[in-house]
Amino acid sequence: MRCVYCSPEKKLRNPREDILTIDEFCRVIRVFTRLGISHIRLTGGEPLVRQGLPRLIHEVARFPGIDDLSMTTNMLLMEDAAKTLKEAGLQRLNVSLDSLDPERFSKITGGGDLSKVLRGIDAALEAGLTPIKINMVVMKDINIGDIIPMIRFCIEKKLFMRMIEYMPVGVAQKELKEKHFPISEIKKLVAKEFTLQETTTRGPGPAKYHQIAGHGICIGFIAAISQHFCESCNRVRLTSNGMLHLCLGHENQFNLREVIRSTKDDSVLKEAILSAIQKKPLGHKFAEHDSLMMIGMAGLGG
Ligand code: SAM
Repeated sequence: MRCVYCSPEKKLRNPREDILTIDEFCRVIRVFTRLGISHIRLTGGEPLVRQGLPRLIHEVARFPGIDDLSMTTNMLLMEDAAKTLKEAGLQRLNVSLDSLDPERFSKITGGGDLSKVLRGIDAALEAGLTPIKINMVVMKDINIGDIIPMIRFCIEKKLFMRMIEYMPVGVAQKELKEKHFPISEIKKLVAKEFTLQETTTRGPGPAKYHQIAGHGICIGFIAAISQHFCESCNRVRLTSNGMLHLCLGHENQFNLREVIRSTKDDSVLKEAILSAIQKKPLGHKFAEHDSLMMIGMAGLGG
């Protein structure tokens, strides 16, 4: 798909030989887990189009120290894959879904078929890929009217719901101003229909959760711009071509592919990772200047 909030202007084209193999991914993830990383999320691009995905999941799920193995997906190919992925060892899913109106969904995603996503969600629930969290990027003048229907859908299906502020990755500042709709405004809209109760529920990520009183589900708010959470961010992202990105809002990246391919010695790889981590920035700079990041969120994984 080519979601409006996610795709860089120029299509991403990685030379095939630059893409890490499944064995290379397994190796680097193993080294990360030895350094204490316990949560792995497979994202993209779209992880379901990657050949060899079940083998990657099968191997990573069995590494000592993995507590959480999840995937963020658009669900288009989930209906046929859910059972296999669960059996391989995938635990749970984050699902991108920004509207339940088929036409608006198609417009936002650049031609996506909503019915496939809905069938994928049912197949994933049946396979036990739970909890399922719905990621909704809320954008001014685009899908504000979808907030309440989406909450009702999550109540009906017993899904976690997360509302995310639009982040300007790989775009100019003016786009942030055009699309940004702060969490404080989203909460006001939700409060007209539902009672939000503070909860101590914390996921592994940045969402702040509230209970929807009387409905038994939680709703998480990710205020990446208006109340950023950089001080507690301990994430890094490894792209399909082996670049280690230390922050969504910074250019800095470290070429781990070169290290992976230059040595079979895992201790060298470990030292390279440790030295890259030292360069993790104190915080993002979304609000200050245009992002020069060419790969956009689609290349970074969200
Ligand atoms: N193809 C997969 C999908 O559609 O979920 C994974 C890739 S996508 C980059 C991962 C997540 O990033 C999506 O769930 C979406 O919510 C989030 N995302 C993408 N662009 C964003 C933006 N500009 N601001 C906030 N979140 C964004």
